[in-house]
Amino acid sequence: MADVISKRARNLDPSVTLSLTAKAKELKAKGENVVGLTAGEPDFDTPDVIKEGAIEAIRRGETKYTPAEGIAPLRKAVAEAYSKRLGVSYTASEIVISHGAKHSIYNALFALMDPGDEVLILSPYWTSYPDMVKILGGKPRIVELTKKTDFKLTTEIFRKQLSRKKKPKALLFNSPSNPAGIVYRKEEIEAIAKIVLESGIALISDEIYEYLTYSGSEHYSPVSLLPQVKDQTVVITGVSKSYAMTGWRVGFAMAEKDVAYRMAAFQAHATGCPNSVSQWAALEALQNGADDRERMRGEFEKRKELFGKRLARIPSIWYPEPGGAFYYLVDVSKLYKKCNAKNSFEFCDKLLAEQGLVVIPGGAFGCDKMIRFSFAASENDINRALDRFENFARKYSS
Ligand code: PMP
Ligand code: GLU
Repeated sequence: MADVISKRARNLDPSVTLSLTAKAKELKAKGENVVGLTAGEPDFDTPDVIKEGAIEAIRRGETKYTPAEGIAPLRKAVAEAYSKRLGVSYTASEIVISHGAKHSIYNALFALMDPGDEVLILSPYWTSYPDMVKILGGKPRIVELTKKTDFKLTTEIFRKQLSRKKKPKALLFNSPSNPAGIVYRKEEIEAIAKIVLESGIALISDEIYEYLTYSGSEHYSPVSLLPQVKDQTVVITGVSKSYAMTGWRVGFAMAEKDVAYRMAAFQAHATGCPNSVSQWAALEALQNGADDRERMRGEFEKRKELFGKRLARIPSIWYPEPGGAFYYLVDVSKLYKKCNAKNSFEFCDKLLAEQGLVVIPGGAFGCDKMIRFSFAASENDINRALDRFENFARKYSS
């Protein structure tokens, strides 16, 4: 066969989070005794009120192309809701609706960086960030964060990165974070926003988990704490996690109007527009979904507590306490030698082979000593998964 694949495509592998999620579902469908705590995806069904909004939209015939940047009522509703929530003023011309927050981030990167530009990515990072930058010809500059700073970007680390000869074009920031569930405190975000403002670089603030915070943690957006940084910042959010709408694919971006214009221009050529029916469903979520959103958040909080209690009795592991999102990122490296795993991928292969448990290797997030569990699962699945993990850890602990 002729060798037609581009060099660029050859270097791109599928998303580990999505492929392992598909693998767990496939094994279960085959009737295998497998538990998967893989994708960051609420197990709840989309609330009925949202589904009804979508059904009505179909009946009204809202089944055609929409403007590339999204339907006017949704852009207006996002502008109004987030102006209120963030305490800064957004107009509809600063809002771009996209095919999931993933695509919003991709559009933002397109609008903010050129090939060769560097983008600061904080490790542990969400698996798609470095690939998105690379696809666009940019260079991910991975900033490794450790236990020492609670996996947070400090002002010292940030300033050091900015003092290097090549200035990064943007910082990709995510709080609450995937995969570690880190929630930055108010004053920490304020300090980072100040440095962004001084330095003139762009900030992409991925706030997709904004509503999922627990145990007293609170979400803050850099633009609310330092409104002057608004024009340098693209705030990303959406309905996937907060309203159990992952498969509907609707993300929101808030950006300075020229940046928003370019993001929409890119989207116009890349996908045409986001799905029409899903946009109407997202509008319903914004207008009438708050009770369901809070109910689901409360359930996640209970599951997080259950998960934490079960993890606390397992030997030879360590993990940062998550304040948000729905993940536990667990250091299992003390078990590697005894179970004969060279890295997190081999460790996860063994967990699956021996215990029928599928989780995500930390290597996919730039932290090869760790594995990621999602607690967006039923209590029953959490208990079954942790029975298996505990068996495994006890077997290989010294
Ligand atoms: N950012 C982070 C940190 C995520 O974990 C996800 C998960 N999918 C996304 C963005 C993308 O969300 P969406 O499903 O809306 O594309
Ligand atoms: N963001 C989720 C995760 O990390 C969903 C899968 C994906 O899009 O990566 O599991």
